[in-house]
Amino acid sequence: MKILVINSGSSTIKYQLIEMPNQAVIAKGLIERIGSKEAKITFQKGDFKTHKVLDIPDHQTGLAQINQLLMDDQIGVIANKDDIEVVGHRVVHGGKSFSKTAKVTQNVKEAIKSLSALAPLHNPHNLKGIEVAENVFTKAQQVVVFDTAFFQSMPQKAYQYAIPKHLMEEHDIRAYGFHGTSHKYVSEKAKTFLEAKNGSASKLITIHLGNGCSITALKDGLAIDHSLGFGPANGLIMGTRAGDIDQSVIFYLINQLGYSADEVNELLLKESGMLGLTGHNDMRDIQKKAEEGDKNCQLALDMNAYRIKKYIGAYAAALNGLDAIVFTAGIGENSALLRELVCKDMDVLGLELDTTKNGKHSAEINEISTAHSKAKILVIPTNEELEIAKQAFEITSK
Ligand code: AMP
Repeated sequence: MKILVINSGSSTIKYQLIEMPNQAVIAKGLIERIGSKEAKITFQKGDFKTHKVLDIPDHQTGLAQINQLLMDDQIGVIANKDDIEVVGHRVVHGGKSFSKTAKVTQNVKEAIKSLSALAPLHNPHNLKGIEVAENVFTKAQQVVVFDTAFFQSMPQKAYQYAIPKHLMEEHDIRAYGFHGTSHKYVSEKAKTFLEAKNGSASKLITIHLGNGCSITALKDGLAIDHSLGFGPANGLIMGTRAGDIDQSVIFYLINQLGYSADEVNELLLKESGMLGLTGHNDMRDIQKKAEEGDKNCQLALDMNAYRIKKYIGAYAAALNGLDAIVFTAGIGENSALLRELVCKDMDVLGLELDTTKNGKHSAEINEISTAHSKAKILVIPTNEELEIAKQAFEITSK
């Protein structure tokens, strides 16, 4: 079965065509700057890569372009668009209504629309992707995979905020969580890996460190706590987001320094985090500067690692133990330095890093703890598109 996975943003569409159940990526690519006369579409199949710069005024045109590339006489990978039996869409917010992947119906689309208030930057674009795909791939079954669904297993004591409870009951103000497909994917990989070596995988902590960052505690495969909450702002220090911050700062900015509410929102989501601390939001630049002796960048790295350490400690307490921690996403997979800063002096939790193994890099699962480490330290590349394809396959082949 050929499944087209689509991740539709405000001005981007990421796509991957995956053959299931053998999980082979047939082709993949990205459209950037939708709405511009100089939009860019990339296409990759195996080692072959190409791109075009062209006018892509809207998502409909973008998806039609993807379809054209997939069916191209020279470089295409399918003969007919109806060869695509399923289109799997990433939808960021499924609220409390969706704890699982769903086939698209009118009701599902209406629910995604009504949840736009909770994810105004994502859900409207995700919905647009679905509507456009319905027009282009008319014979395909459309499926939605929600980022939030994986966290619906969290107990109420973890997801409820300590504010008047009518706000949750009447307005759904509570923690939902994000990056669910990534946490699910790497936690399942970790479980298979650890159990194959007769290890326990009952108490896991998965750490997704990319442009956005989040951390999840999992008991027997189910999320029991997570650092992102009502929106994608809480918890770890991210590229441009502050993560945890005392709400008093917000009111000081507004009442004493004259910021508007929108300006504070912009400040905390787009101008803070590693960018606010150092002037850079790419971890590679920050690491390079720190190596060159930049004290500011070193402090930002220390702050970043310290925040992660505190969450690991909190989640180990919530789990009453720890079998393994898993690093994933751009920074988690590639930054040996940040992993080292996080894992340093964590023997109280049974974590002991092997610095030689930590410095090596491979594309598959890496165990980077010492042979004596009670809790394992793993690096597992995430693959959200494959996770979406797996779930779309599962629901449509039943
Ligand atoms: P993601 O959102 O998962 O694509 O992660 C993107 C982030 O990964 C970038 O902002 C970089 O900071 C970081 N990153 C990518 N490659 C490296 C690397 N080799 N070393 C450190 N950080 C990296």
